[in-house]
Amino acid sequence: MGHAVMHNTYPATWTLKQITDDVCETVRRNGDHYGTDRVRISTEKVFDTYDDAMAHIERVDRHDYDGIAVKYLDFEGVEDSKKIKEYRVKIAELVKKKDEYIKAHSVHKQKAAFIGCQTCGSKLNKERLRGERCPLCGTDLRASSTLDRINSFDARVKEIDKKITQERREQKSKAKVRWLVKYEYHC
Ligand SMILES: [Zn+2]
Repeated sequence: MGHAVMHNTYPATWTLKQITDDVCETVRRNGDHYGTDRVRISTEKVFDTYDDAMAHIERVDRHDYDGIAVKYLDFEGVEDSKKIKEYRVKIAELVKKKDEYIKAHSVHKQKAAFIGCQTCGSKLNKERLRGERCPLCGTDLRASSTLDRINSFDARVKEIDKKITQERREQKSKAKVRWLVKYEYHC
């Protein structure tokens, strides 16, 4: 017994009837008869990205095996612009630097044989520690300045990701419109 939430995409030329027939056929084949039996178009808007379309579907979902179809811009097959390529290189560099930083600042690299947990006061034998957390209370044993630095790598990656999304929006005319359709069934 389970519950499947599915997301299909279809070419923009498909009619709502074609989509509904395809969805109902899938529900009949895979489910135990409880499932989406109609699909509605919740907005005429064409979303800039697949993720935007997904977020919209989550917002308007009535949670009653609601079948929802919306259009979005599919960038597959659109070549990355020079700027986006540069951003991706930058992200890869940051991820590598972050990994190196994490390795270099592991509690296992500390010289002392025992490491004190600031939260629960335990003295922990470094040799028996697995990972970076106190096994008793779960506190991360690394210095807060180390954790801040790790978070700052993540924040920089997120910033560049935002720039990629912005740059994508400028390539809109090259993208193809597709349907994203959410449906569900019980199986
Ligand atoms: Zn602890």
